[in-house]
Amino acid sequence: MSKISVLIPLYNEKECIQNLLKEVYAVMENIKREYEVVIVNDGSSDGSEEELNKVLKEYPNLKIVHFRKNYGQTAAISAAIAESEGTILVPMDADLQNDPEDIPKLIDKLEKGFDVVSGWRRKRKDNFLTRVLPSKIANFIISNISGVKLHDYGCSLKAYRREVLDEIDLIGEMHRFIPILAHWKGAKVSEIEVIHHPRKMGKSKYNLTRTFKVILDLITLKFLGSFLTKPIHAFGGSGLGLIFISCLIAFFTLYQKFFEGAYVHRNPLFVVAVFFSLAGIQLIMIGLLGEILSRIYFQSSNRKPYSIKEIKKSEKEK
Ligand code: UDP
Ligand code: MG
Repeated sequence: MSKISVLIPLYNEKECIQNLLKEVYAVMENIKREYEVVIVNDGSSDGSEEELNKVLKEYPNLKIVHFRKNYGQTAAISAAIAESEGTILVPMDADLQNDPEDIPKLIDKLEKGFDVVSGWRRKRKDNFLTRVLPSKIANFIISNISGVKLHDYGCSLKAYRREVLDEIDLIGEMHRFIPILAHWKGAKVSEIEVIHHPRKMGKSKYNLTRTFKVILDLITLKFLGSFLTKPIHAFGGSGLGLIFISCLIAFFTLYQKFFEGAYVHRNPLFVVAVFFSLAGIQLIMIGLLGEILSRIYFQSSNRKPYSIKEIKKSEKEK
């Protein structure tokens, strides 16, 4: 049976550590499967490090990675994935806002034939104005733009098959978009409702500004997803459009010159035509630069612009 890895990014959560491990281990011991817990201490400065080193003596199957400094939740999750051995990966928060009781439910769903199962904090217990409302709006936009219909991308509690993650680079703050990246590579994505608790100890590491960062990340993601292999289509299209509009305006100014006597140096439309042409040429140039960059990216990283599920060979001997 496949081994389960619970992955926990942790930053300044000293007060939570004891309860966290108690609750997670109670659930994992009950599942009666091979498992491990990987905690990444993301450069905590509140004594979490000492506390974590203490619990190493109390719990089995526990691996702790200490970062030198604070790199952020995505980097911590990424390190946890790299250091884990399981074939089913379950990330969750350290502050027990997620409930470990949901882990077996996520795994059940995953084993019904999905590659990613995302948690949905239907009854979210955070501040409504600064957290819940902005997140509802962001989730609505993300689900429409990405084409992956989930209710709650921000929920940390999810379950993944390892193969899906192996092909995904986690850069910046992209961890909440893993289901989308996975879907674009052909993974089967699903969702179940999970319990959410108010934060009882410690402080949240995020505030309202995160919503704006999430929207910017989404634009990046959409762009990379649709145009990484063909940037000239993204920029060149609008470039050609602008040049076309510029030609129409230029012809109109010619018409005005010959039939209405409006000379170009007195006609602001002519300047508009010149401006549109220049902007159009610039956009096409940016597209061409993008093409060069995209080639460098794929060649230097040995990455493939496609994702293979399986390769089979004939089983008949010659
Ligand atoms: N976290 C982290 N590095 C950071 C910020 C947060 O590892 O730079 C961890 C944090 O310890 C927690 C999880 O990421 O386990 C989610 O953070 P938080 O609970 O503050 O987010 P919220 O639930 O308020 O969205
Ligand atoms: Mg939290």
